[in-house]
Amino acid sequence: MGRTRGDRRGSWDPSDDRVFSSVAETLARDAGPVEELARRAAESFAAPLAASTAAFLVTARLARRSAYALGVSCATPMVGAVMSVCAVGGSAALAGQAAREATSWASAGRGDARVGGRASWLFPSGFGRARADAPWDEREMTADAILGSLMYAALGRGLKTAMPSDVSHPGAMARKSLPANGAHYASEGQKRTLARWMARHGCHHCGTKVGAVIGDHMPPNKVAFGSSAAAEAFREGTQSLWTRAWQAVGGVPKQRFFPQCRGCSDLQSVAVRTGVKKLVMHGGGVKIGAVVAGCVAARHYAMARHPEEYAKWEAKLEELKFRFAP
Ligand SMILES: [Zn+2]
Repeated sequence: MGRTRGDRRGSWDPSDDRVFSSVAETLARDAGPVEELARRAAESFAAPLAASTAAFLVTARLARRSAYALGVSCATPMVGAVMSVCAVGGSAALAGQAAREATSWASAGRGDARVGGRASWLFPSGFGRARADAPWDEREMTADAILGSLMYAALGRGLKTAMPSDVSHPGAMARKSLPANGAHYASEGQKRTLARWMARHGCHHCGTKVGAVIGDHMPPNKVAFGSSAAAEAFREGTQSLWTRAWQAVGGVPKQRFFPQCRGCSDLQSVAVRTGVKKLVMHGGGVKIGAVVAGCVAARHYAMARHPEEYAKWEAKLEELKFRFAP
């Protein structure tokens, strides 16, 4: 890299961490005149970004479809969590490979970056190998999977959005909920709050933001009260004296309201009445997926186009590791 040191613009981080600013400089330089934009964009970050995003979203979608076909939801104990991690980690690993491939097409003719260096804790292959970013390097794929999963879990609603929803449990798209007053339906005020949440975050099962909102009891009334009749008796105040005394002393089952659409509510009625598991797909996790895919692509792009700066950034992560886990 033939650039001089010390030409930093702006005040943030003048000494190191040049990897992000270097990428930004390349992007600005590659943008160039408008008539050359398409060719230059193909040479720069646009191709790896697009390849990475497409790979992530398609893989994540396929994984969610597979879970749906297998009857695994975000509420499935153990298997649901394991499949979520595999879905997001696998999507991130494939996104990284797509980004690496697209970067290498765009960089064809530039010559491979050959950088010596030591292996690091987080990216064990480091720069000790001859070629900066080898295809299907399992250590780099593992790094993408781990970083991608952590980012996906931290940025959005958690890894659960990788799986479909089970209508008898809080959904994959669940974000906020209100305490419910026993089996009673949501009040007008509660419905207004739930409607606002549904417009912003969608039905907690399928993610739809349109249509009337329903205050969905979680756990469902039949589950919380033991039977639909018991829930109805509580609602109408016709429960037996014993039950009333028990509820006065022991309290009523703790339930919360989640915003739900009519379609999911109807499906839930069937599921609770018949005791048959009913799953619904949703279109969530796309924005978070695009952000994760973008960061994964940026890492591979930086590795290929700015290996020296990238190596420094990697070394800084190594230091952090020693700082937090001596
Ligand atoms: Zn729904």
